[in-house]
Amino acid sequence: MECWELMPKIELHAHLNGSIRNSTLLELAGGLGKGGTVVFSDVENVILKNDRSLPEVFKLFDLIHVVTTDHKTVTRITKEVIEDFASENVVYLELRTTPKRNDSKGMSKRSYMEAVLEGARAVSTVEVDLSRELVAETLAVNEMCNRTGRKKIFVRFLLSIDRRETTEAAMETVNLALEMRRLGVVGIDLSGNPVIGEWSTFLPALEFAKMQGLPITLHCGEVPNPKEIHAMLDFLPRRIGHACCFEQEEWEKLKKSKIPVEICLTSNIITETISSVDVHHFADLYKSNHPLILCTDDVGVFSTSLSAEYALASSAFGLVKREMFQLARKAIEFVFAGDEVKQQLEEIFASAA
Ligand code: 5GP
Repeated sequence: MECWELMPKIELHAHLNGSIRNSTLLELAGGLGKGGTVVFSDVENVILKNDRSLPEVFKLFDLIHVVTTDHKTVTRITKEVIEDFASENVVYLELRTTPKRNDSKGMSKRSYMEAVLEGARAVSTVEVDLSRELVAETLAVNEMCNRTGRKKIFVRFLLSIDRRETTEAAMETVNLALEMRRLGVVGIDLSGNPVIGEWSTFLPALEFAKMQGLPITLHCGEVPNPKEIHAMLDFLPRRIGHACCFEQEEWEKLKKSKIPVEICLTSNIITETISSVDVHHFADLYKSNHPLILCTDDVGVFSTSLSAEYALASSAFGLVKREMFQLARKAIEFVFAGDEVKQQLEEIFASAA
């Protein structure tokens, strides 16, 4: 495992609230339990359960959101999640989260995101490069790291549209992403329970985002839904996540399109969207030279890490260290950040090679 931890890695599919530490979640639930908002023993059982079906995962997210949705907690979680990824040598993290409105806490989608950014700025264990376009600042951070020898992580954000949301709510998220572009927001994600909501509800907001030049990634094919899968592939997003329930025709379309796929092995196996790692589509896509990125999805919910995903892929598909390094390095092409960041990532991988 140690060699995978030491290797520089790029994480492109990580949900903020799914990446929360179990210890933090239990501590927060304990606090709410004392206040009588939740029954702590019930919450503890859900949190500590290891195998979860996809519907159970979404029940857990509802619970996590009860426990986490105030500004201070959002800031704390963001800080911890970034520190955890940095500690295993993730050098570029694209962290996605659903901006939430919570009137009882005086929270708007914008103030939620401001709390997220505050968490990123509060990271103390590594240098965090946050801004998308402020090259001068990036160079300054680089110089400082060179001088102090401290580690650095690039962090960028994707704003998620939840499939429970209306067209208007989705549009609000896209507008927020556009307003926050200079602050490190680099794209849009569509996620949430795949059996809820219609593609046509989100399409106007996604088309608007695309028109404005915001890159988009879609959770695609987590459940069998050929009509939606075809519509999503026709939309030509910059990346898709999962691609588990594809049929022959969808595989052909995907391969022709060359849309990169964010692969989350442990998540797919625990939620039983894929029956076992031996039959995972990673193997076929890798052999076909289709663009792939190994990702975690939800390190907290699925008790994994990006290093553990690399270890699993290496052992399950017989890939040696050099091949895994190449896979990690190739992800540079698929990040949503700009060319100056890609250039710096190239340098990091070149010196690690
Ligand atoms: P948040 O957006 O609150 O930071 O992260 C948790 C949310 O991410 C969940 O409520 C859900 O909308 C989304 N999410 C996390 N994991 C998955 C997944 O495996 N599939 C889908 N479709 N959505 C997910």
